[in-house]
Amino acid sequence: MSTRALMATITITAVVLFIVVLFAGVAILRWQFMVLLPQNIVPQVLEGILSLLTYQAIGLGIAAIVIAAVAYWLQSTSIAAPLSAIVANMAAFAESGQRQPMPDTSGKPVEMQQLTQVLIASMDKIELSHKKDEEVSRVKSDFISTAAHQLRTPLTGIRWALEALERDAQLSQEQQALVKSAVEKSHDLVAIVGTLLDISAIESGKYNYQFAPMDLGALAQEVANDFTPLAAQSQVSLVFAPSETPLPQINADRDRIKWILNNLIENAIRYTPAGGNVTVSANRGANQVQVRVRDTGIGIPEQERGNIFERFYRAGNAITKENAGNGLGLYIARTIATDHGGDLDFQPNAEGPGTTFILSFPVPA
Ligand code: ADP
Repeated sequence: MSTRALMATITITAVVLFIVVLFAGVAILRWQFMVLLPQNIVPQVLEGILSLLTYQAIGLGIAAIVIAAVAYWLQSTSIAAPLSAIVANMAAFAESGQRQPMPDTSGKPVEMQQLTQVLIASMDKIELSHKKDEEVSRVKSDFISTAAHQLRTPLTGIRWALEALERDAQLSQEQQALVKSAVEKSHDLVAIVGTLLDISAIESGKYNYQFAPMDLGALAQEVANDFTPLAAQSQVSLVFAPSETPLPQINADRDRIKWILNNLIENAIRYTPAGGNVTVSANRGANQVQVRVRDTGIGIPEQERGNIFERFYRAGNAITKENAGNGLGLYIARTIATDHGGDLDFQPNAEGPGTTFILSFPVPA
């Protein structure tokens, strides 16, 4: 019940009780007059006295109603109205993080003034801690970005040198195997540094998207085809199921979306044991175009489902199945999807083991 409704209920109940008591009192007085006054009193005088009593009661009743209305109005303007304004203010702050000016409570009850001061102090603290978090996050992103930039040049040099060495015919077989492994590792390192640069660009809002109309279904099919060799090597059946109806184009950065699809399909194959299936499908949802990547793999343990979009997070069963991995792919993928106004989510398969990742984008109006 709102404060206003509560105050109205109390006021109306008090007025009704007052009027009932008043008229009961008048009724008793009338009875007492009838009994106590001498029987030979002129009837008009008796009638006059009794009417006077009734009129006075009606007058008092009206006065009580007017006083109660004024009291209600005073309480409403000094308690209910500022309380409603404060609640609306705090709700807007909780929703958007933006502060609105608090209502002026000077001249209002002391508790109302104290409440306003406590809330203003709390908002100050929340804003301060938010600013500190942003600063820490900025310093962290700057550090990652600087470190990644510093690492990229020497790493690329090392990779070229190793690739040149790999082509040297004079190496023994053992040496060739070592150099080949070093080349592969240097590729991995360059890719990790690239990912770190992507992350710092995402976090600083400097990720440069090139939006253009594109066919999501065709791209999903192309990426699924690219993964046929990896699927065959992992003994996982990889199928693309096209949409039954033509899909509308979306407005997106094709390279970035390809990056997401690469990640999802590669994960699905990596986290599915031999003999399993991966199905990539494209379809249309309500005002959306979706790509689903469904696997019959190891699944995501229930207690870890809330964390897998966190940076560097890897579920325990994934670490056991696949040593390699950095836990950054899904974080970047979801950020790219939301930067496009879309979303990336997943659900455990309803029947049987495995997971389905759902990438969705809005259809332009
Ligand atoms: P990475 O695969 O390099 O560890 P990602 O960010 O791509 O990093 O994925 C984060 C985590 O999400 C994985 O470590 C794994 O625990 C979980 N995960 C992602 N895709 C799947 C999948 N298809 N099946 C099961 N777990 C998955």
